[in-house]
Amino acid sequence: MVNLEQTDFFDEGALVGVLTTQPLDRVLDYKAPVGGCWLGAFVEVPLGPRKVLGVVWGKGRGDWDPAKVRSVIKVLDVAPMRGEMRSFLERASQYTLTSMPNMLRLATRAPGLSNPPSMQKVYRLGDVEPDRKTDARTRVLETLRDYGGLSFTLKELSDMAGVTSSVVKGLVKLGAVVEENTPRDLPFARMDPDYGAKTLTPDQAEAAAHMVAEIRREAYGTTLLRGVTGSGKTEVYLEAIAECLRVGRQALVLLPEIALTAEFLDRVEARFGAKPAEWHSGVTMTERRRIWKMVGQGGAQIVIGARSALFLPFQNLGLIVVDEEHDTSYKQDDGVLYNARDMAVLRASLVGASVVLASATPSLESWANADAGKYHRIELTSRYGPAVMPEMRAIDMRVEDLPSGTWISPSLRSEVEARIAKGEQSLLFINRRGYAPVTICRACGHQIGCDNCDARMVEHRFLKRLLCHQCGESKPMPEACPSCEVEGKLAAVGPGVERLAEEAKAAFPEARLAVLSSDLFGSARALKEGIKAIADGAADVIIGTQLVAKGHNFPLLTLVGVIDADLGLQGSDLRAAERTFQLIRQVAGRAGRSERKGVALLQSHQPDHPVIRAILAGDEDAFWQAEANERRHAGVPPYGRMAGIILSSTDVGQVFDLGNALARNDGALRQIGAQVYGPAPAPIARIRGRHRVRLLVKADKAAPLQAAVAKWIGQFQIKGDIRLAVDIDPQSF
Ligand code: ADP
Ligand code: ZN
Repeated sequence: MVNLEQTDFFDEGALVGVLTTQPLDRVLDYKAPVGGCWLGAFVEVPLGPRKVLGVVWGKGRGDWDPAKVRSVIKVLDVAPMRGEMRSFLERASQYTLTSMPNMLRLATRAPGLSNPPSMQKVYRLGDVEPDRKTDARTRVLETLRDYGGLSFTLKELSDMAGVTSSVVKGLVKLGAVVEENTPRDLPFARMDPDYGAKTLTPDQAEAAAHMVAEIRREAYGTTLLRGVTGSGKTEVYLEAIAECLRVGRQALVLLPEIALTAEFLDRVEARFGAKPAEWHSGVTMTERRRIWKMVGQGGAQIVIGARSALFLPFQNLGLIVVDEEHDTSYKQDDGVLYNARDMAVLRASLVGASVVLASATPSLESWANADAGKYHRIELTSRYGPAVMPEMRAIDMRVEDLPSGTWISPSLRSEVEARIAKGEQSLLFINRRGYAPVTICRACGHQIGCDNCDARMVEHRFLKRLLCHQCGESKPMPEACPSCEVEGKLAAVGPGVERLAEEAKAAFPEARLAVLSSDLFGSARALKEGIKAIADGAADVIIGTQLVAKGHNFPLLTLVGVIDADLGLQGSDLRAAERTFQLIRQVAGRAGRSERKGVALLQSHQPDHPVIRAILAGDEDAFWQAEANERRHAGVPPYGRMAGIILSSTDVGQVFDLGNALARNDGALRQIGAQVYGPAPAPIARIRGRHRVRLLVKADKAAPLQAAVAKWIGQFQIKGDIRLAVDIDPQSF
């Protein structure tokens, strides 16, 4: 438990201010309950006829009729929220312009917090030796002896000993086995910082030494770790985690994709001898509650998680690693729009922890922060061991001769065939899920779109359905065109991963194919097994989406074919070049991760495009320099600041009216020299039947953007079914 100062305690009857998760714009006054309560205590309070969850946020304001102030119902049996966490939520709220109740909701995403701790019966070895020993009884006792002093549930023990539960119960009656009640929320196994340590290369050791020194300093600092895929970034930051364990602080590793966690957990176990806690939407409710509590009590030393893990109540956080820090999935709309990378830095700065941002292709934002001296930059320039970076070449699609409706060029095809002959693996990469991006009627030209969104429905042939990638809406593939009702004329246009698989099957009939796309695996476990089988050589040709670009290690893989390297270069988004560059570099990095040299071939219709040229030349710094100049010139992030205002409503007229009114009354913005653009249809103009328009605010780097935006939108009453969402640092502009 933490040492709270005496002044942080409220005696019974004292006025406390409680923040709840209810959408109210103030902290409410209550009386401290019998026995008093600590500042930060999680409490249950009455609100109208209901009981709601809240946190004691400070002294009460005392501006209500004392006779009307009600009492806190009870204090929950969890560690109080630390001051550092309360500051974090407040600062994050100010930064993202999100209400405090919504922030608190992120920090209380553990089910059943208000339930008393649940107990379970466990069984351990007793002192009494039974007079009569059957085979079954002997097996139970030997099992318990084998495991020293450990205790097990009835099911675990009888399964391990291969006996029925009545045998165990019989031994309990004799006193040979002891039955006990213990809390279900048990701590995680202790980690051993020196278990499974590897010998680092001189470069790696230097990088690790810097991080270890940072951890020892026990103060905030961010390190940007850039290293080509396979250079040992993970090995290096595992050393920083080891140091955290030694000094008794907790470490959090954020991963951009749940599918990567299983593999990563195994790696942590191999390094520290025990499984860490795992936190993401796929984790069961009981387990989440256990983790939440154990993180708060120090019973979980390492957490591997999705971005929501940033809001866990760490007792003593020493390090946050953001792996693949450039990944766009760190910013997602789940009610609160925040970028996990930025919030990691904020949280660490408030608690005096280190941050490690790791990537082969850092975001321009982090790159600029390192240039400005805000982050310390470390580079690992060569791959570990004999592995070298793959050779990169373009395949000029303008001169390749390939039938329409196919995407594997003759050049790529013969390279794949050569790999199959040598027993090596090839990866064909296409960043599109499903069978085909567009389904069109050849009779009337109608394209099947989503009824709720401004998006096309994507055919998924394995599922035999059309799916909207925007809202998840799905419907069976129709026989007839929904518009002209002519049957049998619906045709697929363009390639998706499933269609590419079909083409590969025909092109390489002897080869064993594996398709890696998130839709095709029922569970994270199935995906993990699929990936492991591929790594062990169970496939000759892998066909995959973005999913394969990240993290996985395939030692036999020597060829990567990027089917459409131009995808993503089009479009007006200023970040398109950065994303394409990162993605292709990352996929290419999958090839040749062991002794065998790899090749990456990029199929492109514009091999002279500056981005493609920079990728081929492997000249990252030149690329970033050019990108940086362009953004500096345009005054956009990271050299300027932006905010998006998204208005949505079922009534398209209403959103434009409000958007126009906002654009006209921009005095608060002009005061800080900011400009507003729009309203214009948002990047996705309709989602789930709601029309969306966006205004973009652009300001100087140093301008107080949030305060001005808050003042600006604060003048307007948001009425009817209109919703307004603020997106600070939007991903697309
Ligand atoms: P990155 O995170 O940069 O992609 P990894 O840390 O995953 O690189 O390293 C790539 C591979 O090389 C992994 O299998 C890793 O275990 C191995 N490796 C890297 N450095 C070492 C080392 N010093 N000793 C042993 N194996 C290493
Ligand atoms: Zn939709």
